[in-house]
Amino acid sequence: MLREELKQKIISESTECIAYLTELVNSNRIYDGEVLAIIIDVIKNGPDQLTNSQWNVLLDKGLLPDFYVECDRCEDTIPWSEMYRAIFIARDHYCPFCRYIENKENTRLLD
Ligand SMILES: [Zn+2]
Repeated sequence: MLREELKQKIISESTECIAYLTELVNSNRIYDGEVLAIIIDVIKNGPDQLTNSQWNVLLDKGLLPDFYVECDRCEDTIPWSEMYRAIFIARDHYCPFCRYIENKENTRLLD
């Protein structure tokens, strides 16, 4: 996804995005102090009030390339509510649909 599209997605889905950012902070995934300060600001005040330079830090050091992914299988976007699972728990970078299909195929191989 292009940076500008990601920015628009963060603004238009700010509630869901903030829930994900809160998960990142609560699980101590953010090591960079500057990024952490900006993310906490977004959690408290929303993304609308960020300056351009804060956006650059949030997008280039905060989310991209490791903390915002799209589905490795279908290349569709992954909902914010599933992002943490895709990156840190399942570590498959799959959307829920592809994970379901993949698991089903793996189960079939075991039969
Ligand atoms: Zn997918």
